[in-house]
Amino acid sequence: MTSERWRPLLDGALAEAATVRGGRVVTYIPALAGADPRLLAVAMVAPDGEAGAAGDREAVFPLMSAAKPFVYALALAEHGFAKVHEHVGTEPSGAPFDATVVRSGSGTPFNAMTNIGAIVTTSLVRGGVLEFLSRCAGRSLEVDAAVLDSQRRAGDRNKALAYLAHGHSSLVGDPAEAVDRYFTQCATRVTVTDLARMAATLAGGGTLPGTGERLIEARVVRTVLAVMTTCGMYQASGSWLVHAGLPAKSGVSGCLVAALPGRIGIAAYSPPVDEHGNSVRAMAACAYLTQRLGLHLLDVP
Ligand code: GLN
Repeated sequence: MTSERWRPLLDGALAEAATVRGGRVVTYIPALAGADPRLLAVAMVAPDGEAGAAGDREAVFPLMSAAKPFVYALALAEHGFAKVHEHVGTEPSGAPFDATVVRSGSGTPFNAMTNIGAIVTTSLVRGGVLEFLSRCAGRSLEVDAAVLDSQRRAGDRNKALAYLAHGHSSLVGDPAEAVDRYFTQCATRVTVTDLARMAATLAGGGTLPGTGERLIEARVVRTVLAVMTTCGMYQASGSWLVHAGLPAKSGVSGCLVAALPGRIGIAAYSPPVDEHGNSVRAMAACAYLTQRLGLHLLDVP
């Protein structure tokens, strides 16, 4: 059910995003290469449950790196801050998402939004990732078997990252198993409305939109949103914060998940991504909404 109040706003975001050119559908994961570059969808869900979506709202896509904030939240909930941050940092890396960089000295990944950092947080989580993502989305999610298989086959770099992290003692347990669980969470299929509900769970401080039922501790969500703010858009995190002004995380499938605490969860999807792996039109749609709604984090309300 799209909130009528939001329809002009969402249509405006689509129209604005549709004018944006550039970007390319990724090919390094062959199962993503066939995505229709014309797909475009945007959705918003408020913590009180008000929801709206526009564009290709039936399109289903894998979360890819948009899963990272949620797995980080799960790791923090299971193990606490001190333990998790012995394994992964909270600093921007200034490097591409799949970089092999680790912090000098500790040898830990810079943050949980990079691939190596997310593989480490995945290794810490004991299980129940799909269940957790499903609870955030408000329905039972599934893994796209073709995408999972494709990531496994084309996954040398991520496998190497898992072994690198294991070599530095930040990854816990078997690196092969950790990277496979990472591939699985990346291959979880959602619609833009699912992803906006997940965003609203973060925007609600860890409570489910509509019901207010607590799923994640508020302190955990604050940490996740802080790291999304500084690291969620990789090397474009700074310009994104200046321009759009809210915590967000991109996925190379072309999705974007963004949340403004207490206000709104936003998701957008359009497959062509820029050199950082951020969807050019999803960014445009989200930035349009935050500007129209006056949601820049650093504006005086
Ligand atoms: N599964 C992708 C990878 O590991 C996720 C990267 C991304 O979405 N930025 O390469």
